[in-house]
Amino acid sequence: RFISFEGIDGAGKTTHIDAVEQAWRAAGHEVVRTREPGGTALAESLRELVLHQPMDALTEALLVFAARRDHVQQVIAPALARGAWVLCDRFTDATFAYQGAGRGFDLQVLAQLEGWVQQGLQPELTLLFDLPPAVAAARLRDARQPDRFESLDEAFFERVRGGYLARQAADPQRFALVQADAAPQAVAAQVRAALQSRGL
Ligand code: C5P
Ligand code: MG
Repeated sequence: RFISFEGIDGAGKTTHIDAVEQAWRAAGHEVVRTREPGGTALAESLRELVLHQPMDALTEALLVFAARRDHVQQVIAPALARGAWVLCDRFTDATFAYQGAGRGFDLQVLAQLEGWVQQGLQPELTLLFDLPPAVAAARLRDARQPDRFESLDEAFFERVRGGYLARQAADPQRFALVQADAAPQAVAAQVRAALQSRGL
């Protein structure tokens, strides 16, 4: 089983991924919790470059997909093959949202890279944590040192949010939309309901 968590920075994914991970482990599943960009030594190195080095949008897209290729081959595909339950903090929807909608990179090129790299592999469920960028920004303020993306302006995050919602509209079966500006307990309840409705 393979699920991903998406949303703009400050949406609060991490807390809820922790909760799902604990619940699945308590139920006795082998859980592989991972993240993108990253998840392997090579992909984590690429993550550092993507997050901290200025680069053009095509370079950024290629590095993110190179990281994803390594991650899928080394971690996700083997985990799924042995029956592990995979939780991924961001996956390809983030590329369409950040590099595509956010930076304006060609969505058709991203779709081609997606095809080459993933060969049809998709999460069975993607929890999209949706909230207004102003709310997310307030949460992130004085949280920690921002990376290259987190310091961008609200207009950038409006585009990223729109990019995520467009992905959801194009494939609504795969997505569960979580109203992430609710109180933490209410967000947790939405997450549990989305998982339960799919036997997760
Ligand atoms: O999920 P997390 O916030 O740790 O992701 C790290 C950063 O990478 C985020 O700030 C996000 O803006 C950025 N990112 C990106 N392109 C992706 C995935 C993540 O720019 N495809
Ligand atoms: Mg972040």
